Amino acid sequence: MSAYFDYNATTPLNPAAREAWLKASEKHWYNPSSLYREAGMTSQVLESARERLADLLGAEPERVIFTSGATESNNTLFAGLSRCLPPDGCVAISTIEHPCVREAARAWLGRGRVIEIPVDTQGVVQPATLKQILEVNKPALVSIMAANNESGVLQPWQEHLQLCRSQGVRFHTDAAQWIGKLESTALGSCDYVTGSAHKFGGSKGVGFLIAADADEAFPLLHGGPQEQNRRAGTENYPGIEAMVAALESVTPMLTEVAVNQAAMRDRFIHEMQVRFAGLRVIGERAPRLWNTVLMVMPQHDNLKWLTRLTRLGFAISTGSACSTGKEGSSVVVQALGASWEELRRVVRVSGGLQTTEQEWQDLAAAFVEAGQTLDAGGRPGI
Ligand code: PLP
Repeated sequence: MSAYFDYNATTPLNPAAREAWLKASEKHWYNPSSLYREAGMTSQVLESARERLADLLGAEPERVIFTSGATESNNTLFAGLSRCLPPDGCVAISTIEHPCVREAARAWLGRGRVIEIPVDTQGVVQPATLKQILEVNKPALVSIMAANNESGVLQPWQEHLQLCRSQGVRFHTDAAQWIGKLESTALGSCDYVTGSAHKFGGSKGVGFLIAADADEAFPLLHGGPQEQNRRAGTENYPGIEAMVAALESVTPMLTEVAVNQAAMRDRFIHEMQVRFAGLRVIGERAPRLWNTVLMVMPQHDNLKWLTRLTRLGFAISTGSACSTGKEGSSVVVQALGASWEELRRVVRVSGGLQTTEQEWQDLAAAFVEAGQTLDAGGRPGI
């Protein structure tokens, strides 16, 4: 493959994470809940990983619950809420949440208790919109993602948090796409935060939920008393150690990367707009992640673009990896009121920390080449 442009779906393992995983697996493979000395040492290094992660996120270590990833973290949150929400209580989530927020909220609480907060034409939840929902619907919890997985649009979550605070409402942010791409030390001020290791160079199947209180109950998994009775099951210490190592290794470079990569991405967008009249970039006027471009191509089905680009050696996506193949591949473009016909032309590219100018420019050239083949009729199904 010439270049990978699907970093929002998943990332390759960071070398520091790989090293940390190997060391942890060789040296600390014991069960941290067992009682002999070696297990006690595993428990100690696990707690140290918790402290380091809490530090990176500006949270208290007792609030960190290790999970198998963002999907589990979000289900954990709503499973917990399902126990304490009064029968007439509700939660408010944005219309552009990842399915593991939207579907988890509906499944655990019932569809009728999940209110949707609309986004503006750029895909942003305007604070004024949230304020109105807080006043009218009085939700017990608001959940708005920090950065969108499809469009990369950033939400003003600090403002959302302040508004919720002023009304005594708890605030959750799914920060799976923010963490590892942007400075994250302020996230711990939210009541609940979701993160996932494989989005920032850790291994798959590891993540966390930052909880509001250290002693909250989360009855998602029934079993042992691990994670202070909040998440049953033996902790994946090597995976956790690798996740923390990955975040420690990328955090110092994020400010510089954000500036350089955003410039490369913008030059790619410019080139695409020059080459493809009518191409629309979703959320173009909103603050966005430095790595993501969600485009509605002027012509041709997204699967045709994807297949052509794959043949040219580029991995791209048709929106979110989680909704690929399902009707309406882009939740975001749907939320913006696009037609079915437009939805079929949505393509997402997402670069990484080390994507080069050459790769961005080669990608634009590959789109041009693919477009010429498709315009010429291409071979069907290829
Ligand atoms: N939330 C967001 C915003 C995501 O982008 C993803 C991944 O696609 C998830 C949640 C699910 O993450 P995981 O694969 O760790 O369950």
